Amino acid sequence: MSDWEEESEPWVPPPVSRPRSYRQGVGNGRGWSVGQGRGRWAEEGSRGNGDPPRNRETWKQGGSTPVCFRLDSSLVGMVIGRGGAKIKELEELSGARIKIVNDNYDSEVKLFGTRGQQDKAKELINDLVKSSGKEAVYEYSEIPDSTESTTPPRATEKPTAKIDWAFALKQAAIYEATKWADVPQIKKNFYVESKKISAMSKDEVLKWRKENNNIMCTDLNENEQRSIPNPVSDFEDAFSPFPEVMSALKVAGFKKPTPIQSQAWPIILQGTDLIGIAQTGTGKTLAYLLPGFIHLDLQPCTGDQRGGPGMLVLAPTRELALQVQEECSKYKYKGFKSLCVYGGGDRRNQISVVTEGVDIIIATPGRLHDLQMNDIVNLRSITYMVLDEADRMLDMGFEPQIKKILIDIRPDRQTVMTSATWPDGVRRLAKSYLKDPMMVYVGTLDLAAVNTVEQKVLVIPEEEKKAFTRHFIDCLKPEDKIIIFVGKKLMADDLASDLCIQGIQCEALHGGREQCDREQALDDFKEGKVRILIATDLASRGLDVHDITIVFNYDFPRNIEEYVHRVGRTGRAGRFGESVTLVTRNDWRVSEELINILERANQEVPEELFQMAERYREFKQRKNRERDMMPNRGRWRDSR
Ligand code: AMP
Repeated sequence: MSDWEEESEPWVPPPVSRPRSYRQGVGNGRGWSVGQGRGRWAEEGSRGNGDPPRNRETWKQGGSTPVCFRLDSSLVGMVIGRGGAKIKELEELSGARIKIVNDNYDSEVKLFGTRGQQDKAKELINDLVKSSGKEAVYEYSEIPDSTESTTPPRATEKPTAKIDWAFALKQAAIYEATKWADVPQIKKNFYVESKKISAMSKDEVLKWRKENNNIMCTDLNENEQRSIPNPVSDFEDAFSPFPEVMSALKVAGFKKPTPIQSQAWPIILQGTDLIGIAQTGTGKTLAYLLPGFIHLDLQPCTGDQRGGPGMLVLAPTRELALQVQEECSKYKYKGFKSLCVYGGGDRRNQISVVTEGVDIIIATPGRLHDLQMNDIVNLRSITYMVLDEADRMLDMGFEPQIKKILIDIRPDRQTVMTSATWPDGVRRLAKSYLKDPMMVYVGTLDLAAVNTVEQKVLVIPEEEKKAFTRHFIDCLKPEDKIIIFVGKKLMADDLASDLCIQGIQCEALHGGREQCDREQALDDFKEGKVRILIATDLASRGLDVHDITIVFNYDFPRNIEEYVHRVGRTGRAGRFGESVTLVTRNDWRVSEELINILERANQEVPEELFQMAERYREFKQRKNRERDMMPNRGRWRDSR
């Protein structure tokens, strides 16, 4: 066995095609356990439902009925930890087995082991949640585990009455109708197609879409096939009836709509719900903001009568929310007042602004839900709603809060959703909360379409990364602005303090820092007070700093999508950029996908990367062969 294999085999990397890490299990209601997930139980004789097997030694000897309790879903990620590190630690410290089953709002935590082990695990989880200082409600109630309970029902218990579903559904419909009976009329269609755009032939439309980042459009209305409006090629085509929008665009100095704008504007302006698959940097924010301004302005019910905000933008991170608000305030459309609401920001101030009255709220789901629950914000007045970077919001575990927020927003609103990817979770969300939407896909995830970044990849031993980075920084030009991406908060702090000790000015940006420090770091970087920002993936999306010249991937990101997002932080707004990526042998599972990206973008691929991909292919083949040679292993264990 070679030196390479010896070091790499103990950690079995997930298959290349697997898009997400631990959240796969958590997000879709399946059981999750650290390390090998369901597989661990399955291999050892489980009942096929992801629960631990009854015949495991631990459970036979003193294992008591599992202790179960509910945990707010937003806290699950913290308990699991990155790549399952935290849950593993908790298991090791307590000796109990911990299993988490995700539900829409609350997740169920099951603790297996002896009573003492269960108590210890419970205490550790309790401390962890408390230490986070999170505002999320931590409901803690022991509940009986239906799958494990062996206690027969008591004779005195009356059988529960059958639920009359038809009646219940009818009542729910009546309640829903009464709930929204008094909301004012809503107007959604403001689009007047210009003669030039109406005159486009089908072929011209197809050619135009192909030449503009290969725009693809689909109508997701299952009942009727509607025609998707032609894309607009100039600002006038969409906004000539709205002179204030035209002059705002002139002031901004933009020349023409970006691909997503050209196709999204006619769809949104005509009042149709939209799903825009596009990433940050494509102009997606203006794609939904400008039609939103018009929508808000032309409602039959004026701002004074509304009694609350008219537009809501939900965004996954404070950074993105603040960026959207900045974009919003730049246009000062009709004096609309906007407010950014996010956890970690000054809650009292946010409450006072909401109470005074705002037209547009840009919020992260957690804090908005908090204000909603405390009756501080009225969501009934919202008629235009945006779910920005929906995939990221789901990744961050915000689905329960989003769903709770949407309960209080009128169902006949107009909804726009943006997402960089189109996984199952986002599809589900779209199906539940958008009404007959059209979908516009702009192929920007394909880096081949963004030929403004020169991507360099260097295969290097882990222990040489720091020295190389230091040398790289020494060679920077004064006009360079560089963002260094690392995998862990600790690494960001470590690298930043190393550089500071050596007299090199830099800032660190990660989720472990106080909100005010994060904002300060970002401002310093934007304004050029510091030219080196060391960041975790918190900044890989949503960070809109135009003059970043170099993206430096100190650690390779957890998946190839994140690589694309990171690299997209440079080469923006028509400029050229450079990315440098350090790859170590631990990253071999992504080597093949990275080669694909580099080749499609006509970039140089180092020979070592090809060799790494080859070794990984051989490793996988060998593993498959080994599995095939023992086909009956699982069956034998199951039938024991
Ligand atoms: P976004 O994708 O919304 O993060 O936008 C990225 C950047 O592109 C923002 O700074 C916008 O101001 C800018 N932008 C938006 N629309 C246009 C346009 N039509 N032309 C040039 N830049 C634009």
